[in-house]
Amino acid sequence: MKLYSTNNPKSFVSLKKAVLKGLPADNGLFMPEKIEALPSSFFENIEQYSFQEIAFQMATQLVTDSISKTDLLNIVEEAINFPAPVVSLKEGVHVLELFHGPSLAFKDFGARFTAQLMSHFNTDDKPLRVLVATSGDTGGAVAAGFYKTPGVEVIILYPSGKVSLLQEKQLTTLGHNITALEVDGTFDDCQALVKQAFLDEELNKKHRLTSANSINIARLIPQSFYYVEAYKQLEDKSSPVVFSIPSGNFGNLTAGLFAKKMGLPVFQFIAATNDNNIVPEYLESGEYKPRPSVRTLSNAMDVGAPSNFARMSDLYCSTWNIMKGDITGYSYNDKQTKLAIKEVHDLYGYTIDPHGAVAYLALKEYQENGAKKTNGILLETAHPAKFIDTVEEVIGEKIAIPNRLEELRLKEKEAVQMSTTFSDFKEWLLK
Ligand SMILES: *Cc1c(COP(=O)(O)O)cnc(C)c1O
Repeated sequence: MKLYSTNNPKSFVSLKKAVLKGLPADNGLFMPEKIEALPSSFFENIEQYSFQEIAFQMATQLVTDSISKTDLLNIVEEAINFPAPVVSLKEGVHVLELFHGPSLAFKDFGARFTAQLMSHFNTDDKPLRVLVATSGDTGGAVAAGFYKTPGVEVIILYPSGKVSLLQEKQLTTLGHNITALEVDGTFDDCQALVKQAFLDEELNKKHRLTSANSINIARLIPQSFYYVEAYKQLEDKSSPVVFSIPSGNFGNLTAGLFAKKMGLPVFQFIAATNDNNIVPEYLESGEYKPRPSVRTLSNAMDVGAPSNFARMSDLYCSTWNIMKGDITGYSYNDKQTKLAIKEVHDLYGYTIDPHGAVAYLALKEYQENGAKKTNGILLETAHPAKFIDTVEEVIGEKIAIPNRLEELRLKEKEAVQMSTTFSDFKEWLLK
């Protein structure tokens, strides 16, 4: 497998380099040189395969000769070790539950797979040090995904007092190869410290540093697997299949486009956003206008400059009307999101989180407008218990909290206190 940068389609790097570096030097994003379709028999016989077998076939197709089959099988088995079940709300409306991993959000798939690939590719004697700045959610998935991964140390920087109690516990209670730094500042300060560390010569001589942020290609690859796993679970495969994806940085949707390129029969993708509706606006007008993000209830989608837009655009040769043919966009505000949580609860007895609720609304609007009967799958990206205050207020009932979340409450926090001064951070890293 070779990858190019969206800013320079003529220069290629290996998968190893793309995974360990994360970002090309020219500020573009790494893209697979080609994504070839699997044989149609694979999709015709899809019901015979387990989720892990689907993942392995797709991973093999994508990474080709970059990793041996035996190693890839181990990587897939370690990374894809929890299910992605489809729950039916009514005919033509299904929920793909992506929250059965350790941090209760779909980012677990990407984080676990990235951890496995990094560990596989790091053949140095020096351990790999992964630096992550988090405003909350990503850190939890990375911490859980990299926990006890051989040869990899993770250092997570988070802004003191600015993440939820549960999020903080997800970052600070694991121990082993995971260290949390509680920074006396904002998320931007955390990010600035990480950026400066990557540029520091002395640090880079002593340590092998890398990042595990959402733009690493290793995060996208496994996200394409569950689109096929969802398709497999549809009882009726005769109506055209549409996926509704609650989106922020558009990694999840981009992975869906990969799955389609690999042959998955998808009739339409629906880009569902909150008030940060840069992509729906683009699909409507042809003009891409990033802007500062605004805060909403579905806060993991509060993104004003979606990083994977460059990849989407690249897949459609920067041509708006081709992209518009495959992707329809809708956006909803917080009031509509709350009403949707209530509607899904009252009509179907299903508890949905604010992100999934946005996808529900978009699927509903699409199906109401469409002439064709379609089979819709909405991606439920987080467990509702992660947004317990909003959800309980709206439905007027207590919701069940999964054990692994409940257990976190009781665990002791352990974090290193850190100022926003780079020399302090550097001294700590060198120690
Ligand atoms: C990260 C996240 C999203 C947005 O996913 P993108 O790939 O950035 O579009 C949606 N829902 C939840 C719960 C998330 O954590």
